[in-house]
Amino acid sequence: MSQRMLEGKVAVVTGAGGGIGREIALMMALHGAKIVINDLGVSVTGDGGSATPAEQTKGIIEQRGGEAVINTNSVSTWNSARGIIETAMDAFGRVDIVVNNAGILRDVIFHKMTEDDWNAVINVHLSGSFYVSRAAAEHFRKQESGAFVHMSSTSGLIGNFGQANYSAAKLGITALSKSIALDMKRYNVRSNCIAPFAWSRMTGSIPAETPEQKARVEKIKQMTPDKNAPMAVFLASDAAKDVTGQVFATRNNEIFLMSSPRPIRSVHRGEGWTPESIAEHGIHSLKGAFMPLDRSGEVFTWDPI
Ligand code: NAD
Repeated sequence: MSQRMLEGKVAVVTGAGGGIGREIALMMALHGAKIVINDLGVSVTGDGGSATPAEQTKGIIEQRGGEAVINTNSVSTWNSARGIIETAMDAFGRVDIVVNNAGILRDVIFHKMTEDDWNAVINVHLSGSFYVSRAAAEHFRKQESGAFVHMSSTSGLIGNFGQANYSAAKLGITALSKSIALDMKRYNVRSNCIAPFAWSRMTGSIPAETPEQKARVEKIKQMTPDKNAPMAVFLASDAAKDVTGQVFATRNNEIFLMSSPRPIRSVHRGEGWTPESIAEHGIHSLKGAFMPLDRSGEVFTWDPI
């Protein structure tokens, strides 16, 4: 390694007991960061709980000469999230980086989605990202530095079937990140999102019954979770000092900058609009620029490179 980009920094990585979070924690440790490995050790749907995944990540970091502690709190309540940041303060005396990566899935077609399916996913992804960020923000403000990296998803940025809860949370996280970037710029605090792609246990639930679905899953399998780690390490480092409020996507060897909503077409009528005039004229002018009802896989149509 030519350069250790996170020397002297302390990073909290939520959901670091497996998948993408583990790979981010491992690479951050290789780059000199001391790591708080947070993981509840739950199933993809958020059931159960075990310290083993977090302990395994810790074992790998220590084997490679790094320093790490574990924390098995849930990100999904105000108090337990504060406990995660307290672990960083108790163990290492500071916190410089927060990676909001912990996540669960409760995929179900919208008209069958229960209140519990909705709340469980929103609590972990959207509220969890808020709680952990909010707890760290007090320290970031005092020390006038800090970097947030939040995991979004093209399911939210673009769309997907059966993921109303997850998509809402993941698009919400981009607004949370931009708001943090705006509010905390004066304290030299940065906040960015990554929409990762990876073959992990989360994508293991993608149906592979038809030949087309099977072919798609084979493509996704090439994208190992570690491919998302370099961008997270970069965004957490001082080398990204001018990068904030952005949404990136990482997909095998590709990095994308994702667009942000802007007005794309307008119609104006001097005397104002009525529902009738919108139906007769206005909507026809806007229709040419309508957002298609597409899904992530229909936008990323080429094989992962
Ligand atoms: P994963 O299931 O392998 O890892 C998620 C980890 O989060 C698990 O170890 C789990 O125990 C932990 N976790 C769940 N609830 C928690 C809670 N309340 N508190 C603390 N830890 C908790 O998933 P992954 O595929 O590595 O995904 C990581 C992140 O990337 C998630 O936010 C996911 O939504 C996002 N993402 C993944 C993909 C992909 O292709 N895998 C695509 C888009 C976005």
